[in-house]
Amino acid sequence: MRTLRTDTRRLHVGNVPVGGGAPVSVQSMTTTKTDDVDGTLAQVYALSGAGADIVRITCNTVEAAQGLAEIVPRSPVPIIADIHYQYRLALAAIEAGVAGLRLNPGNIRNEDQIKTVARAAADAGLPIRVGVNGGSLDKDILERHGSATPEALVESALLEIRYLEDVDFHDIKISVKHSDVTSMVESYRLLAEKITYPLHLGVTEAGPPPGGLIKSVAGIASLLIDGIGDTIRFSLTADPVEEAKAGRQLLEYLKLRERSGLDLIACPSCGRAEVDVIQVAEDVREALEAEKLPIQVAVMGCVVNGPGEAREADLGIAAGRGRGHLFIKGQVVRVVNEDEMATALLEEARLLAEEGVEARLAAADPNAAREANEVALELRGTQGDANQATERRAAVADVATGE
Ligand code: SF4
Repeated sequence: MRTLRTDTRRLHVGNVPVGGGAPVSVQSMTTTKTDDVDGTLAQVYALSGAGADIVRITCNTVEAAQGLAEIVPRSPVPIIADIHYQYRLALAAIEAGVAGLRLNPGNIRNEDQIKTVARAAADAGLPIRVGVNGGSLDKDILERHGSATPEALVESALLEIRYLEDVDFHDIKISVKHSDVTSMVESYRLLAEKITYPLHLGVTEAGPPPGGLIKSVAGIASLLIDGIGDTIRFSLTADPVEEAKAGRQLLEYLKLRERSGLDLIACPSCGRAEVDVIQVAEDVREALEAEKLPIQVAVMGCVVNGPGEAREADLGIAAGRGRGHLFIKGQVVRVVNEDEMATALLEEARLLAEEGVEARLAAADPNAAREANEVALELRGTQGDANQATERRAAVADVATGE
């Protein structure tokens, strides 16, 4: 696990710790109407299943606040109410039992109202996110800075923090989201130098995948790698389940959270491939994703390089002459027909989870490694090895001996 900045304050959104070295949490937001209690709850469950630790739900009407009162007690994860414009709805959401609030300083600008909400949140023991957004910045601040610059976003956040601190409220997390990736990164860097409250990272209005995913990863990962950020949200124009999955996967790839499911690695394929790598990778993903086994699986297009290049993977398969060479930690343990590759991987993944690496290596087919070796040698003989190592070694020797 990587180490994050630990000098941020720790707060709790329900039972989820945020900041102060707690595991980085994943957030997402429902897209249903909040007064549709069953529909919203179904989405909350789907988001939780996809890796969301915390779910935000809009509280934009009295009916939405009433919906929250029914959703919160039945939710598997803590619920945060998203509040814009109407501070009274923040009070209603607290009454409904939410685990946290998000206030937008750009549209709840009245100091007294903000302080009223803070006092009520303190009484209920709830944190507040100061959710600054480049697209809905306080208009006075926007006029002063000319545009939604990182300095403008940070100024808006600091002003709101001051209102909260004035009433001795400190359970604060902050976001300074921007739809422009570089402005977003700069805003958070600037803010991280000035405060120790935990930060909620996101690129706002990132758009549909794949562009939205790329923007979100670029912004969020840049900061996390430098130890900045305590909770994250991908804002995609897509099914929110995709947001939750992407957030969770990013944290696992950065080793900020333990692997909870499949990590599929696959070679990009090349002229040497003995199988349709894209199709096999897709079949394997389909077969293994539902298993929820914390495993890294490799799909490699040829047995010449596959097992060696993917030797770090828990389990993998490489193709050669119409056969699939199944390997564990780089060691070929079984050879199966090409059309059985995905099924054989699934079976072996289950056995690995049950019995462990040592037992599965011990159960290896003694002929498998030999067959893989023979095919690799044959392919190397007909195609040359992938890096032309034999030819290059000979050429180097020629130069060294002056021949
Ligand atoms: Fe895949 Fe083999 Fe080509 Fe490497 S050499 S990209 S493993 S097919």
